[in-house]
Amino acid sequence: MRNEEMLLIPGPTPVVDSIYDAMSQETWSHTDPRFAKIYKDSVAKTREMFNNTEGEVIVFAASGTLGMEMALANTVKPGERILIISQGFFGDRFKDVAAAYGIPFDVVEAEWGHQVDPNMVAARLANNTYRAVTVTHADTSTGVAADLDVLVPMIKQHGALAIVDGVCATAAMEEDMGKAYCNNPEWTLDVVLTGSQKAIGVPPGLAIVSFSKTALAARDAMERVPGYYIDIKRWIPIMHDPTKYFATPAVNLVYAYNEGMRLVLEEGLEQRYRRHRQFREGVQAALAVYGMKALAVEGAAADTLTCALYPEGVNDAEFRQKLADKKVVVSGALAHLSGKAFRIGHMGNTTKEMLAEAIRLIGETLKEMGFEADIDAAVKVFNSKF
Ligand SMILES: *Cc1c(COP(=O)(O)O)cnc(C)c1O
Repeated sequence: MRNEEMLLIPGPTPVVDSIYDAMSQETWSHTDPRFAKIYKDSVAKTREMFNNTEGEVIVFAASGTLGMEMALANTVKPGERILIISQGFFGDRFKDVAAAYGIPFDVVEAEWGHQVDPNMVAARLANNTYRAVTVTHADTSTGVAADLDVLVPMIKQHGALAIVDGVCATAAMEEDMGKAYCNNPEWTLDVVLTGSQKAIGVPPGLAIVSFSKTALAARDAMERVPGYYIDIKRWIPIMHDPTKYFATPAVNLVYAYNEGMRLVLEEGLEQRYRRHRQFREGVQAALAVYGMKALAVEGAAADTLTCALYPEGVNDAEFRQKLADKKVVVSGALAHLSGKAFRIGHMGNTTKEMLAEAIRLIGETLKEMGFEADIDAAVKVFNSKF
């Protein structure tokens, strides 16, 4: 099956043929040993991707949001306070998740397009006790990345759990759970969660949540979790032996996910990080030629997507419709940026060739709408980054 459109939204992202092929295999019983082997294999690959040697990884039927719930509800008891670091819409989503689980919180927010001020984080940490701190690695609303090298040591020094929402980052930006921040073996990421449909490049429908040894100890210290399906104690035995039953896994998505993970490991994480950096540099430099500036300030941009501000006078709905007519699908911007910017994903199994073509078609669209666009210059600067 060949894609007819270029799905350059911040997830779901383009699905390659080998993943479609895997997904369209015959549906076996969810406890069939042949399926169990594939499921287990995909979990092992996921552990390898996160370099999570001592913890547990849960792969289950859900979207990323339920992964956020699983992360929080299994590590923080109702009534224990957390700190939410928010660099946009998805950072803010943790407020609603925490509220739903009776978890009080404080928030450090950044102006959209900027990273949070580490001094503000330090001030909060100095004056309060937090069980956990949530960080959105790449906020999909703003295209801003969190600086884990700055934030994680602060969180760990405080004695809190570091919970990272990797939904738009995992498999494209470094999230090494074996990494000892500041060379302190105790200072590691505690929970990283993601969804299948973003930088992993598999259709939507699976959430992936990776727990460190410390995070598992937090779960062990809880008598119960205020949820049933999201309780990792019910899932861990299944991850070790999927011939057991807890809740029916999304069999065909697991086939697809196993192939997606195979592609991630085959390419290699270092190469993936490099490729996504090049995508970011190339797309942002090319869009700048068209007068479309990234919302994220210098040094704050995520490698996986760009929120680009329109030049004066460009009508958002018209631009995206004309581009969609050319089979390139991008997203509108959220909240107060709606109408003023668009978001283009450049992650997962998206290729350099696809993006170069999208850059060309964006230029054509602008020209059709009566704006100037130096398409050759834009494509050239894009290609120069590789
Ligand atoms: C997409 C996204 C989510 C939500 O994931 P769903 O699969 O839509 O539930 C959460 N966090 C970030 C950073 C995202 O990009």
